[in-house]
Amino acid sequence: MPDCIFCAIASGDIPGRVVHETEHTLAFLDVNPLASGHTLVIPKDHYERLDEVPAELSEELFGAVSELVPRVEDAVDADATNVGINNGPAAGQEVDHVHIHIVPRFEGDGGAPIHAVAGERPDLSDDEMDDIEAAISA
Ligand code: 5GP
Ligand code: ZN
Repeated sequence: MPDCIFCAIASGDIPGRVVHETEHTLAFLDVNPLASGHTLVIPKDHYERLDEVPAELSEELFGAVSELVPRVEDAVDADATNVGINNGPAAGQEVDHVHIHIVPRFEGDGGAPIHAVAGERPDLSDDEMDDIEAAISA
């Protein structure tokens, strides 16, 4: 994908601080880290949204994430991690190449849980919850 910064890192055209690599995935440090050790895990091929990633690749991608989480935590002596994806521009995705953030967290670091990412909480009736449940299950 031309002009994609993460494709350029995956192909080696621009440098990245690579911390892990598998046949189809790459992990490297975020250039503008939210915390020490902030790591991004990507498929080497370009996909914009999570649902576009083929199942087998998804398995490799999340396998890499699982493997990396304790390594990242140990490396920076973190107490925990937030693991998340900004999946689409409305969710804050700025680089349109699927990437999973591993953000180390430290007791008393002043950060927030993942519950803080969404906007105003909706006040949903039981009927509305039923409709949503049915729509997702369908
Ligand atoms: P998004 O908002 O798309 O989920 O996050 C994109 C992330 O990519 C940001 O945390 C940003 O700091 C990181 N980023 C943007 N450009 C580069 C780059 O050229 N190299 C690296 N390593 N990270 C980048
Ligand atoms: Zn790309």
